[in-house]
Parts: sequence; structure tokens; C-alpha cells
Amino acid sequence: MLRKNRLFTPGPTPLLPAAQAAMASFSAHHRTADFRALFTRVLAELKEFIGTQNDVIVTVSSGTGAMEASVSNLTSPGDKVLVLSAGKFGERWTGITKAFKCNVDVLSVPYGETFSLDDIRARLTPDVRAVFVQATESSTGTRHDVEGIAKIVRANSDGTLLIVDAITGLGTTHLDVDRWGVDVIIGGSQKALMIPPGLAYCAVSDRAWQRMETTSSPRFYFDLRKERKAAAKGEAAYTPATSLFAALGAALDFIRQAGNGNLANGRAVLVDNAELCAEMTRAGVRALGLKLFSASPAAALTTIDSPQGLDSGQIVKEFRESFDAVVANGQGEMKGRIFRIAHIGYYDYLDTIGILGALEQVLARCTGTPVEYGAAVRAAQEVYARASSGKRQLVEA
Ligand SMILES: *Cc1c(COP(=O)(O)O)cnc(C)c1O
Repeated sequence: MLRKNRLFTPGPTPLLPAAQAAMASFSAHHRTADFRALFTRVLAELKEFIGTQNDVIVTVSSGTGAMEASVSNLTSPGDKVLVLSAGKFGERWTGITKAFKCNVDVLSVPYGETFSLDDIRARLTPDVRAVFVQATESSTGTRHDVEGIAKIVRANSDGTLLIVDAITGLGTTHLDVDRWGVDVIIGGSQKALMIPPGLAYCAVSDRAWQRMETTSSPRFYFDLRKERKAAAKGEAAYTPATSLFAALGAALDFIRQAGNGNLANGRAVLVDNAELCAEMTRAGVRALGLKLFSASPAAALTTIDSPQGLDSGQIVKEFRESFDAVVANGQGEMKGRIFRIAHIGYYDYLDTIGILGALEQVLARCTGTPVEYGAAVRAAQEVYARASSGKRQLVEA
């Protein structure tokens, strides 16, 4: 059979065709009125997309660049910081904060688990200058309780900043950033924004901007204060990735349309979409007798234990060879033990049904045992039918 290449990975995610077209035809120079208009619009709309009044800064980097910026701008060597680590990306916070010579306390839980709020409370003292966490830990498909964590951090001290890597969280999870008191929230272009990798963005609170006046870690390219100053004039400090800004403009238009002209509604639609695709996927996976890996599954992706005795690399390979579907293996110590199916951004009902149908074939081939064809698809259909009949009743009522 013919095969179409499709991404089911937690970044990069499927590209929005309108964003691809906008990129391909874009050629404006970055120090012109045309580009300044686009740049200013995109920054303002990102605030709406995130749901914040705080200033947003875009960095020309993958998501990790904005993670590093949050550390280099907000800490000084020797600062006591708390890293909440539950996987590969939590470990990245540890790596970055150590590279910038923070005094790092790591609260870690096993892969697949999330934190007990009491444990976090017990580790926090008023001298902790910053707490770093993921909204969703993409290496394990786990959702963390950002609201609960924020409550504890805000109760701890006004001198404790909360920095959230929501690179897969934004656009897949309902987050009330300002009300919860999140100081920095970080996103990436190649996740729910449906455009290629290359841009990261972060919203920064007043408390965090003030902190930057006194911190002394080295920074140059990722100097957020310099970018904020330039942004006030409609520009980036250095040459921005202009075509990615064009793509981002088109993606934000699409999200606004999905929300009937309102970007905040569009974000809610995107989040609800991911939630429903995730619920369908989990039901399908369970119906095949497979086990979900995460105790607190995220809407961004579903993480599945490889069946006993089977290297998950073989499942990933079979998806690729039979259907040109790219699903993700486990990372780090989970490599070979789990596989991950993402449902982020430009991802819909047919994608969900399709990958579950393919999973039935892949499983039959990889395990060599009979699979009840249709079992995963049927379970997902039932979830979808329940969700959409509920919605119809709401509309009719
Ligand atoms: C994708 C992702 C990142 C960013 O990784 P980059 O490769 O630097 O874009 C960071 N944190 C999480 C949770 C992610 O999913």
C-alpha cells in the first residue's frame, strides 16, 4: 500500500498547511515596518494564547534555549533552587541550573509518577530563590499539578520564583498562569503551535523582571531584558527567524478561527481537542490489553508499556515501516520499554482513529499473537460518541 508520512511525536508535531504556505512566501527584512507589524502582532497574540497579561519574549532557539534563558536571567551562582524532576526534561532543569552554578536541590520521583504536594512543601524554605518544573513531562507522558505547586510556592515566599516548562503543556492543558502566580511559563513552536522547530517563547512576571535587575549569571544572546527593550520598538535584538514568525502569525489566525474569532476560546478548543484525542487513545490502548505507563497521564501524549518481552523499538520500527507513522520510543532509561503517541496541536479525530487502527496491526505483527481487530478503534469510537452527544445535548438545552 501507499504510505503517507505522519508525525505522532511530542514535537515536532504535524504542520498546519496555512503556516507552511505563509513561511514559504515570506521575505520581508526584519528592520522594516512590515516585519515590525507582524512581530508586534505575534507577541501580543501569544499573550492571549498563553492567557497572560505578562510580557512575552520569543527566542530564536528550540525550547531548551528559553529554559536556559530563565536560568541565566533569574539566578546568580550559589542561589538555592529547587528542581522538581520526574523524567528526562526534569533532568534537563537539573543540568541547566548546575551549569549556571546554582545550589540545586532536586526532588525527584520515578519515571511515570508525579509529585506529592506535601513532599514539595517539605522541601521548600523561604531561602529557595526559584522552583523549576514541567507542566507535562514529555518523556513519560505525565501531567504535573501546576496549580497545586503554584499555590505552595506562592505561600512559601514572594522571593521564590516559579518557572514552568510548559513546552508540551501550552495548548494541551488548561493553565491559568497569572491567577496561579506562575513567574515564567515557557512554550515552543514545534508543539501545539503547529509550526516547525526554531522558536521558543516565554511569559515573564513583574516579580521575575525585577529579579533580573539583581542577578549575576552570565548571559548574552538570551538576555531577556535586551529582548524586552527591543520588542517595545517592534523588533528583536538580533536577526529573528523571520519566516517562522510568518508561520506563527498564520497559526495564531487558525487558532483564533477555531475559537470563532477569539484567541482565548481558540486555545480552549485546542486544549479540549487534545484532551479528547488523549481520552480516545487511552481507551483504545486499554482495550488491546496494553498498560498505560503514566500514573497521571497528560493530554499531550499517551505513553504505553511495551508488552512483556518486546523491545518498544520494534513497535516504533513497525509503525514506521508498515505505515510511515512516526511514534516515539522511550528516552533515556525508558528506551525500549515504552512507546509514546502524541496528540498535540494540528491533530484530529481521524488521526486518532488511524493510529489506533495501525496499532492493532503493529501489535499483531510484533507479538505474533492474534489481536481482536477493531477493539481499540471501537473503544475510541465509544469515547468520541459519548463526548460529542454530551456536547450536542448542551447546545440543544
Ligand atoms: C519538547 C520539549 C522541550 C524542548 O526541547 P527542545 O528540543 O529544546 O525543543 C522541553 N521540555 C519539554 C517538556 C518538551 O516536551
